[in-house]
Order: sequence, then structure tokens, then C-alpha cells
Amino acid sequence: MLRVNREHPLAIKIRKQITQALAEYNMIGENDKVMICVSGGKDSSILSILLDEIRKRAEINFSIEAVILDQKQPGFQIAEFKNWFELEKIKLSVIERDTYSIVLDKVKNGVYCSLCSKLRRAILYDHAFAKSFNKMALGHHRDDVIETTLLNLFYVGQLSTMPAKLRSDDDRNTVIRPLVFVAEKDLIQLANAWNFPVIPCNLCGSQQGMKRQKMKKLIKDLETDIPNLGASFTNALQNAKPSHLLDHKLFNFKDL
Ligand code: SF4
Repeated sequence: MLRVNREHPLAIKIRKQITQALAEYNMIGENDKVMICVSGGKDSSILSILLDEIRKRAEINFSIEAVILDQKQPGFQIAEFKNWFELEKIKLSVIERDTYSIVLDKVKNGVYCSLCSKLRRAILYDHAFAKSFNKMALGHHRDDVIETTLLNLFYVGQLSTMPAKLRSDDDRNTVIRPLVFVAEKDLIQLANAWNFPVIPCNLCGSQQGMKRQKMKKLIKDLETDIPNLGASFTNALQNAKPSHLLDHKLFNFKDL
């Protein structure tokens, strides 16, 4: 196994987009302790490497540590993944909790992700709080943001998305999403170029929900006619005009 080329053109492009997100949303400050929630998939692994690179070049001091949850799913092979993090000189901690048995026991319709991710989130939030990490970095990217916006629009009746930065409901954790400006196709391409170990999910085969798959397909179809859709969508999310929406809580239409 070789170290990845951190100066690959796509790595530089994505690093710049992460730096932009960090600055725009003031995601990381002096002496922050950042826990990167690593799933074993491509997105959070790339985030770990590039955040480490940004940390080395940053004018402020902050620390990063990757944390992965071993949910005791059959075939969960961590050894090669751990070696790779070691090679890249990034600290990786493994938390072991058997959520696999709970999910199998409770879920009877085969749709595992909802409960599985809820349990995982709770364990990671608790860990971050217990270990005094004041930021939790997640690997969601621009396509996740777009899909979530459309899901909320079509199925929930709400104009909202995955926020770039969020304080948890219980006020214990601050969650950041440094990949919000990064297109998934760039992450896929860089993952192929870097060829690092990935841990697949053997419970549901890493399949996403049907509704999310529908949104993914819709976006893909639209992108054949609108190649700039991703960038335009992100711009729109950063450029809301309350006076041109219908929400009277955001704009005082009565007094016009
Ligand atoms: S993809 Fe696998 S690990 Fe992820 S939430 Fe679904 S069941 Fe859990």
C-alpha cells in the first residue's frame, strides 16, 4: 500500500472547495478539537486526508482525529483501513458497539438504514462529547445537499437542507460539513485515482432509500441538459430571497 498523492489535481480542487466552506461558515477555529466521523466509505476518507493537509497549512492551530464505529456487522474488515490511516499519519480510533443485532432484531421490513444511522449518530455524538471534541466533521457532499433539499421540498413540504454547520438539539455538539461544495463525481474520481481501502456495509449493501435514489436519478437526468446544475443549486441555497418566497415568518408582507 502506498501513500496517496495529496497534490493530485482533483485533491487540490477539492481542498480549495473545503477551504472555502471552512471560511464561509467559520467551521473551525483556534484550538478546535475536530472529530471526523469516518464510515469506511470514500467521502469521509477523502475528507480526513484533505482536512489533515489543510491543518498542516493553516495559520490557526487545530487537531483532527478520525473515529470509526465498528457496528459488528459481519465481514467488517478494519485492518487494511487502519493500516492506511497509519500510513497517512492520521489518528484513527475505533469504537465497538453491536448495533447490528439491535437493527436485525427491531427492523422487520428490511429497511435498515433509518434505525442503523440513528443508533450510530447517538453513539458518535456521545463519544464526541465524552472526549471533548468541540466539532464533529461529516462527509456529506454537494449531491447529498441537493438530494436532501429535493426530498424536503417534495416529501416534507419544507424549504430546507443539510446545513453546513449545525448545533445539535441537545446543545452538546457542533456538526460541520466541509464537503458541502464538493461534487460527488469529483470524489468518486479521486477515490479511483487514490485507490484506498473502503469498507462496504454488509447489512444493506450500502443501498440508500428509494426516495433518495429517485432524487439522485432525477438530478442525473436533469444534468444531461443542465451541466451546471450542481453549482447553480448551491448558489441558490446561498442566495435566498425572503421577499420572493411565500413565508410570512421570513418577510413582513402585511406592511408592504
Ligand atoms: S448503509 Fe449500512 S451502515 Fe449505513 S446506515 Fe445503512 S445499514 Fe447502516
